[in-house]
Amino acid sequence: MTKVNVLGVSFDNKSFNQFQNEFVGRINAHQSTFIVTANPEIVMSANENPEFMKILTYDADYITADGIGIVKASRILGEPLKERVTGYDLFSWLMKLANERSLRVYLIGARPEVIHAIQGKIARDYSDIQLVGAEDGYFKEDLELVAYQIERTEPDLVFAALGSPRQEQLLSVLRRNLLPALMMGVGGSFDVFSGKVKRAPQIWQTIHLEWFYRLLKNPSRLKRMMVLPHFVHAVYQSKKGKE
Ligand code: UDP
Repeated sequence: MTKVNVLGVSFDNKSFNQFQNEFVGRINAHQSTFIVTANPEIVMSANENPEFMKILTYDADYITADGIGIVKASRILGEPLKERVTGYDLFSWLMKLANERSLRVYLIGARPEVIHAIQGKIARDYSDIQLVGAEDGYFKEDLELVAYQIERTEPDLVFAALGSPRQEQLLSVLRRNLLPALMMGVGGSFDVFSGKVKRAPQIWQTIHLEWFYRLLKNPSRLKRMMVLPHFVHAVYQSKKGKE
């Protein structure tokens, strides 16, 4: 099964390695590529927001399972996804690749101090990256104008960390304009990459409780996590519908 449908969102059933190979091919070919890393919150939000669902359906070239909840849902639905492929893991790998190949990178999102910290980190540890843009995510301009500013810098890679669905809205504008870059929404990844926020220790990731670690560190996430029981319920309803 190359695609797995979870509540209307079509996930690519590929391993991290397969994604890496395909992305390298598309970067080499300068193909316009829009990657969404979707978790249960994104799936639920798309089910309530038809514009967002349209972006996931018609604009995204790849959708990866960012979250164990999606992988579990795929098993319940009888079409198991190979593995969880997180935005953060793809982002850190792509930054290394960008450094090895001196690619042109545009970063947009997160708080100004986070973007500054990332600029410092790139200058220190990724000095072969051509950083063609580094903007925080608290701008007032509309997305069309911001997209135009990004296009003018002719990036190879664009990462947007604005939260969903805003980051996907911005990247969908660039994808529709056929910007020949690989583009990905990365949520809170800039915060972690900058060192301002710690990712869960490996053990929490291994036992699939990274979400719980993030909740403990940031209790205000509880409100958005309230959607998870609805997700589980909807997945079982969807399974019933298929039987
Ligand atoms: N953010 C932003 N502009 C906004 C709202 C949020 O740049 O108007 C950033 C925020 O600083 C954070 C990221 O978007 O770096 C979203 O993080 P979140 O934890 O929501 O992402 P997740 O990884 O959970 O999808």
